[in-house]
Amino acid sequence: MRIWWTLSADPSIDEALRTLHEHAATVVELHRPVCLASGRCCQFKNHDHLLAVTGLEAAWTWRNAKRDISTAAVATAEQGGVCVYLDGKLCSIHAERPTGCRTYFCDRGEGGWQATLSESLHRTITRLHDEHNVPYLCAEWNWLVKSLSSAHERGVFSKASLP
Ligand code: SF4
Repeated sequence: MRIWWTLSADPSIDEALRTLHEHAATVVELHRPVCLASGRCCQFKNHDHLLAVTGLEAAWTWRNAKRDISTAAVATAEQGGVCVYLDGKLCSIHAERPTGCRTYFCDRGEGGWQATLSESLHRTITRLHDEHNVPYLCAEWNWLVKSLSSAHERGVFSKASLP
């Protein structure tokens, strides 16, 4: 957990993730899937959706999000089967949301482009781990956020102590 936290502040990793997010936006713009901002992709239980994120990207998102999240808040979200960052029907961390949120739409479109984009970005993130010798783990999103929040609450790291 600590290694993800520390390396999520590494400028080259920060730049790589932001570049990936920009690339995702470019591809999405080309295909223009319909998004009604229904919040369906963030209501995991109701829509049988699993959002998997790597520990490194989860740490990057948690660090860059404008607000801290408590373990109690994550537990409540888990009970409701929704993302802890869902606020009504909107994402409260839209600019920092993980890659998986940028490549998944209810409107699946044609040609399987979402799966292709998602796999391609995930391969790049995996390579990023290799290049920086970062331990790799891909896990359920709320669980990762809860683990990060727990570490934060136990004083393992804090936003104030960032390099
Ligand atoms: S991070 Fe935002 S976009 Fe992603 S599942 Fe959560 S609320 Fe939805």
